[in-house]
Order: sequence, then C-alpha cells, then structure tokens
Amino acid sequence: MRKSKIAAAFLVILLICLSMLSASATAFYDVADDFWAAPYITSLEARGIVSGYGDGYFLPNNNVQRCEYAKMLVNAAEIPLSSVRTSPYADLDVNQWYLPYINAITAQMPGYQSTTAGDQRIYFKPEDPATREDVTVALMRVLNYDLSQYYPIRDDLLSDVFYDYASIPKQDRPYIAEAVKRGYITGTQQGTFEGSDPIIRCEVCAVLCRAFPESGAAYLDMSGFGSGEVLLHESSQAENQIQKGMPEEIASGISDMKVYFIDVGQGDSEFIELPDGKTMLIDAGTSEHGAAVCSFIKRLGHSRIDYVLTTHPHADHIGGMLDVLDNFDIGVFYMPDAETTTRTFEKMLQKLIDKQIVTYPASSGMTLENGSYTIEFLAPLTLYEDLNNCSVVTRVAYGGSVFLFMGDAEKEVEKQLCAAACDKLKADVLKVGHHGSSSSSTAEFLSAVRPTYAVISVGAGNQYGHPTEKTLSRLAAAEAAVLRTDTDGTVAFGAGPGGVYRLDI
Ligand SMILES: [Zn+2]
Repeated sequence: MRKSKIAAAFLVILLICLSMLSASATAFYDVADDFWAAPYITSLEARGIVSGYGDGYFLPNNNVQRCEYAKMLVNAAEIPLSSVRTSPYADLDVNQWYLPYINAITAQMPGYQSTTAGDQRIYFKPEDPATREDVTVALMRVLNYDLSQYYPIRDDLLSDVFYDYASIPKQDRPYIAEAVKRGYITGTQQGTFEGSDPIIRCEVCAVLCRAFPESGAAYLDMSGFGSGEVLLHESSQAENQIQKGMPEEIASGISDMKVYFIDVGQGDSEFIELPDGKTMLIDAGTSEHGAAVCSFIKRLGHSRIDYVLTTHPHADHIGGMLDVLDNFDIGVFYMPDAETTTRTFEKMLQKLIDKQIVTYPASSGMTLENGSYTIEFLAPLTLYEDLNNCSVVTRVAYGGSVFLFMGDAEKEVEKQLCAAACDKLKADVLKVGHHGSSSSSTAEFLSAVRPTYAVISVGAGNQYGHPTEKTLSRLAAAEAAVLRTDTDGTVAFGAGPGGVYRLDI
C-alpha cells in the first residue's frame, strides 16, 4: 500500500515534468516558450552567458546578486577574466568563484565606500541584489559609453526623463537615459525608473540580450518587460535620424551667430541666435524685467527657445523666467544642481512642472553641438554652498569665435577653471562674472581668457557698487574693451567667418 502511494507520487511528478517540457521549447521547465523573456533567456543560455540552476530551472523571477550580474556582464561583453587573486574590497572572499569576474569589471561596477565613521574601506556587497541602476550603469560603462555624447539633445529624444529622475544619482543619469534611448531597459508605466529596485533574472537577460544581440538576431521582441513595463522609447530609429538630420539642418540654414546681452538692470540675461536657427537664453533678469526680455526676443522674431539655462537660482537671474516660460515654446531647460528656498525659485520650479518642460541638471562636461558650433558647460565642477559659485559657466564656440558666460561665478571657480579647463578659457567675448564684483575676474583668470570684449551686465547706481574699481582696473590691465549694460544698454555681437564683430541694434 505504502509502496504504491510512493509510485503514484513519482508518476504525478513525472507527468508534471513531461507537461512542462511539452509546453516549453526552452531549456528550462519554468520558462515557457511564450513567456515574453524566453527568446532572451534562450539566446543568452545558448551563448553561455547565463545558466540555470542545474536542475532544469531558471527561476526567471528571482533577484540577481551583484556578483552574479558581474559574471553575466563579463560573459556577455567577453571581457577577459582577471587572474589577480586579491581584491580592493573589504568583503570579498578571495577564494570564491566570483573573484575573477568582479576583478575584471572593478572600474565599471564600483563598490561602496563604508558609511561607518573611521572605516575607510570599500565594500562590494556581492550578495546584495543588483538594482536597476547597478545593472544599467555598469552595462553602459562596459560599453564605454562616452558621457560627452549625451548632450546633443533633440526634443523628440527626451521621453527618457522619468518623474523620479531627481532620485537617480546625478552621475548615473546620463547612463540611464542613454540606455533607455537605446532600448536596453525601460521605465515603468507610471513614468518612473525605480533605479533602486532589485532587478530580476529575466529582466537582466532582456537587458543584456538587447545590448549584446546575436549577429542577425531580428526576432527579439522589443515590446518590453512582461510585468507591466513599457518601452518608453523607440530609440535606434530616432537616433539614426539625429545623425542624419543635423548636417542637413546646418546646410540649409547656416548664418552668423548673434549674441545679445540684454539690458535687464541689475541682473543677467543673454540671448543667442545660433547659426542653425536654434536659440538659447541664459538667465532672464529679475521678475521686473521678464516682460522686457520676452518682448526683446519676440521682436527678433522668435516664438520658441530651444535651450534655456539658468546659471544659478538667484532672483536677478531667474526672476524673469516665469514670463519666459509663459510666453515661449521651450525646448530643453537646464539648471545647476543647486537649490534655494525663495518664492521666486519655487514658483519657477512649479511652472516647469505645470508646463511639463524637460529639465536637466547642468554640470561641467555637458556639450551641445551641431557640427558648426559647440555649447559646453565648463562649470560647476564641484558643489558649492555659495550659490554664486554654483553658476553654470558656458562656453559657446562657433568657427574660431568663443563667448564665455560666467554667470555669477567668483574667484574660487575661476581658479578651478584655470586648473581644469585652461585651454578652453580663451575667449573673444567674456560675460564678466558677478556683475563686475571684485570677488570675480582675477588677474590670473583674465590672463587665461584674454578677452577682446568684456561685457558687464549691471544696473545704474546699484546698491552693491558693481562694477568695482578693482575689477575695472584688472580688465583694463588685460586690455579688454569694456561694455556695460548700464551705460551702453543692450550689447550685441555677431560671429561669422571673419570672427566677432559688434552689432548695432
Ligand atoms: Zn547676479
């Protein structure tokens, strides 16, 4: 009796196994061939990139440990294994199977600095679940994704911005945005990325298979993760358009670049007509001057501003932005990763949210280019408590002409720039830092910039004593022709094949 029960039980198990096999063309009992990730798992398994658990199961919904992901990524990218038998991480057992894999991608998949006071060691946490951020960032680093390629942005490529973008560490955002653009990973249907969520095995297979497709693998389903996620971006096609589209644009509408330093009293606002017809606004003066900024740009015939930048969140730079956001069709909005609690700043943030304007944190190294011109953010290089020093410093180069916009950056930033980007400072036109305050425009900095023209945006009789005699004499010593919005009104330049010239307006 007892024996027949055992035999019956075996028979049931056998029948279950047979039924699973018949339902699945994959190598795993728990991966049916109509499962959304089956093609990815099958492809990676056949190539030796992933494996099951030895008993015929893949467990597609299990989390992936960080050490397991290291192995999968090394396999997928065919990175040579490291023979080093030591580890920079405090928590790795050097006799474990994972050591050669983790050592092979230490630079691409970094560990964690201890948060315990006095503990200087770095930990890898090999058994922690890999997060969606871990997986994406390490992948893009292994692919040698060049961050400087990130910022030739077109508006139609910006659907990769997630509502929880701000919660993704700043340095990881370009990797994640690019991975989404390329279709390697998707966001959620709610429009978030959920970077700190653990990723499951079938999702990792999809990501790796998309990033490292088999040659000629056209069957791969790009319709997204089965668990309710959607592909936000049909990217490869759109990316091709970007590459193809730009030269035509340049060919069709190229003209001299024009730069206007708009008279906004004690504040800053510069408007640029780029050679391909696009436009950029750097700052918008105080709220009292917002209407004047708008009417100036409208008089030039524009209803759209492609790139808007606030150098830093002080009222004399962002006050007029509310009017600008209300009056123009905005492409992309950049601002530094610096916050303040003023009502002016909060109103601007609310307006950006209400109007669903795509906003990017600006920091050094970001570049917008279009073949003929380059807009590069040289600073902020580090975070400062002083908001003036958080200013985004912008270099606009067209042909041989260079304009350098300093915002309100002061001598600390100037010193950093001399050390980090000295070769990029030489400029024909310098928008003098901080309205000509003596805390900016050091002699050392001016000798690196050697400006032909120095423009000071300043209000007549302002309470700060801007510009100071010290700054004016340093500019005179640097042989710069000084132009001031308080005495010259709006100052304008053109830049073309013959270099920079003054524009009458
Ligand atoms: Zn200012």
